Amino acid sequence: MPIQDELLSGLLTWLAIANYCDFVDLLAHVGVDYRYSVSLDFELEAGAAEKIAMAARVTPELIQSLTFPALNDTEAALTALFPFQACPNCTLRSLALKHWRRAWAFDCQICGVMLTSTLPKLGKGVLPQKLLQHARTGSVLLEQAVMQNSIRQIRRAMRGVTFAMALKNVSGDPASALQSFNPDIRLFCLAAIAVVQKRPLLKAALFATGIDDSARVALLRTYQKEDRLHVTVNRIGRQIENRRHASTSITIE
Ligand SMILES: [Zn+2]
Repeated sequence: MPIQDELLSGLLTWLAIANYCDFVDLLAHVGVDYRYSVSLDFELEAGAAEKIAMAARVTPELIQSLTFPALNDTEAALTALFPFQACPNCTLRSLALKHWRRAWAFDCQICGVMLTSTLPKLGKGVLPQKLLQHARTGSVLLEQAVMQNSIRQIRRAMRGVTFAMALKNVSGDPASALQSFNPDIRLFCLAAIAVVQKRPLLKAALFATGIDDSARVALLRTYQKEDRLHVTVNRIGRQIENRRHASTSITIE
């Protein structure tokens, strides 16, 4: 019997192992086109659910309950199509859980161990404790923002991520950076969400004074639709730069 929060693809992988065949063969056996295997966890036709239910000897309703319910746009953007992280403990029990796919998921809800990248090569390095601490806080804030569907909080979080991306020289959109296989990028982006909570404009301005051109472009992009904020960030940035110049000339004298 599948456990709560288990993903359909996880159950199918387990079924394949139990039947000594591979995933694609199993899908062919139950009559589901393997090209749909990526979207199986998100959308499952009633016919396919019945076929899988028959093979797994459970009800079609139970099979449907293993897929994601309808997601709003933000949730969908922050829910990965592919497993980018997993629990090193629970994977050994052949589990694949829904919450691991969420961009904000940090610790395994079953055993409490920190989730790690599914690309082991990238997950090897030792990460600084401070970064982990901030990233864990950022993940909680991101989850709250999405669950409450708070546009203001989501926008603030994404602003933080955009800055983090600029500092790490990462291109693409913030939602995919938060689902990066590379923990160095993902955790830095999550940490930025926590860091920009207090005095976000000042933080943005600080970023702006010590950054290169690509970061400046990211800054402009982040604030391009909000002229007032952009002007404020620039003004604070200039003040910080002036103050820096002033203090250096005093030291020289
Ligand atoms: Zn676990």
